[in-house]
Amino acid sequence: MVAAVDHHGLAMCMGMKDDTQALNSLAVHEVGNLLGIKLPTKGMARCPFPSHDDDTPSFEIKKQVNRWRCYGCDKHGGAIDLVMAYQGTSFLEAKKWLAAKVGMEGSRWATMPSTPNQQCRTSLIRPRQFIDTAETPPDHTLYGELIARAPLLKSGADYLLGRSLSPEIIARFAIGQMPTTSVIGELIHRFGYGRVEACGLLSKRSTPDSYWPVFPQGALLFPYFEVGMIVYIQARTIIDDEKGSRWRNLNNRRRRLYNSDVLINPTVRRVAICEGAIDVLSATQMGCEAFGLIGISAKLSDAEIILLRGKQVDILLDWDQPGEMRASSLRKELVRFGVAATRKSAPRDGSNDVNDFLRQGNTKI
Ligand SMILES: [Zn+2]
Repeated sequence: MVAAVDHHGLAMCMGMKDDTQALNSLAVHEVGNLLGIKLPTKGMARCPFPSHDDDTPSFEIKKQVNRWRCYGCDKHGGAIDLVMAYQGTSFLEAKKWLAAKVGMEGSRWATMPSTPNQQCRTSLIRPRQFIDTAETPPDHTLYGELIARAPLLKSGADYLLGRSLSPEIIARFAIGQMPTTSVIGELIHRFGYGRVEACGLLSKRSTPDSYWPVFPQGALLFPYFEVGMIVYIQARTIIDDEKGSRWRNLNNRRRRLYNSDVLINPTVRRVAICEGAIDVLSATQMGCEAFGLIGISAKLSDAEIILLRGKQVDILLDWDQPGEMRASSLRKELVRFGVAATRKSAPRDGSNDVNDFLRQGNTKI
C-alpha cells in the first residue's frame, strides 16, 4: 500500500531545503509522463497501476492540491507516492528514481537517460557544458554568504530602475552588488582559500598569497537558485567603459539556467525562455515567468526539457539574427521531447529584446 506522505503545498519557494518537498511539488501528471503513463490533466481516467485491472475510469488527479486518487483500488497520494505505487518500490527508491529523472540527484541537474535507446541519443546530443569534470557540488553556504555581504547599493539600484525594473522584481531575484573586492578576502578568511577557489570566485592567476576576484567592485550580482538554494552567481558590470565583457561568470564552474526553479513549479503553466538575466526579470515583471540561457548557444539538458512538458513555452530570445536562428534550433530540440514552443514574433515597436520592450512602457508580454 502507498505510504502517506506529507504534502507541503505547491509553491516552490526560496529557502526550501527538503528534496522530498521539491519532488512532491512536481506536477502529478508530469511525473506520469516520466513513468511513461498518460494521466489526465482533468477528469477521470482508467487506473494506471498494473495491479488494478480497471474497466471504468476510476483515477483522478486533483490539480489544485497536486494529488491523485483511484476510487477503485483506493490508492492515493502525491508525486512520490505515484512512483511508489506504479513501480511497487519503497519511498526511498521512488525518491531516488524521481530525483534522477529530473536531475536533482546530488544537487546537480544531470542528464539521466531512462532507457538504453535514450541513452544512445543522450550521449550524442549531450551539450558540452555537461561533459565536465568532476565538479564539486555548489557551495550554497559560501554563495549565500557572499550575497548576504553584498547588498544592492544605490548605483546598482539606479541602474536597474533605469532599465524599468521594479523594486519588487529586483527584490524577488535577490540582486546584490559587490561592495569592494575585499569582501572576497573576508570569505577567504572565514572559509579558507581552497573553498573560495572551488566556488569559482577567483581568477586563474590567484594564489593563496595574492587573490584576484572574478567579479569587479560595483558589479551587480545575480544569484542562481535551484530548489531555493544558490548554486551559481553571475555578475554584470554597470560601468560600460570597463574593459572586458560586461557579464562575468564564475571560473571553472558549469554554467546553469537562470531562474530554473520555474521548471519544477507546477503552478507555472506558461514559461518563457529568455536570453540572460535582465530579460528574465523583464519578462517576469510583465507577467510571464521565465528562465534564461547564459549565452545564446546554451543548451537545455534532456531532464530540463522534459520538465517543460505540459507548459506553454514562449521563446523570447532577442529579435535579431542570432536570436532568430537560435529560436529555430531550440524549437527543434524541444519538439523531439514533445514540447511545442512558440517563437514570439518581433514587437512592432522595434524592440530588440524583452527589456527594450519593457522600457517602451509595455506591461504585458
Ligand atoms: Zn486503481
